Amino acid sequence: MSHYVGRFAPSPTGHLHAGSLACLLASYLDAKAHRGTWIIRVEDIDPPREPDWAAEDQLETIEAFKLHSDRPILRQSTRYDAYQEALDLLIGKGLAYGCACTRKSIEAACEAAGLPQGVYPGTCRHGTGGAPIRAWRFLVDDGVVSFTDRLQGTFKQDVLRE
Ligand SMILES: [Zn+2]
Repeated sequence: MSHYVGRFAPSPTGHLHAGSLACLLASYLDAKAHRGTWIIRVEDIDPPREPDWAAEDQLETIEAFKLHSDRPILRQSTRYDAYQEALDLLIGKGLAYGCACTRKSIEAACEAAGLPQGVYPGTCRHGTGGAPIRAWRFLVDDGVVSFTDRLQGTFKQDVLRE
């Protein structure tokens, strides 16, 4: 076994569709081609969009293809403590900050600053002024971040501005 870990992480919002099945098979084959571990992680963190039957239906479909997770199947809904611990670590290191913005206030701030829509204008970067926190944001530095994707090649983005 290598350190390669591949995963299939369906959101249980309905039946697996053809695109999901293609991703399922590709992730499995990629992990096995790298002599790695392949896991299934159910992304069950949006209950209003998840019919009761969907997660089991999806797992039965995966089982029908005889593709077995190398580790016990994870359910995101059972891992909130781990996610909170990771968030607390980021906050403690000053790498994340609370944001009180709404979508409408972000759109208005972008328009006022002449920024493209979808870019966070940094309104809460130095505090929310006591307003309740709605989300947590990564504190990113100015400059370009890059990584190399095995299929797409080098990807570069100035995440503060784009
Ligand atoms: Zn904000």
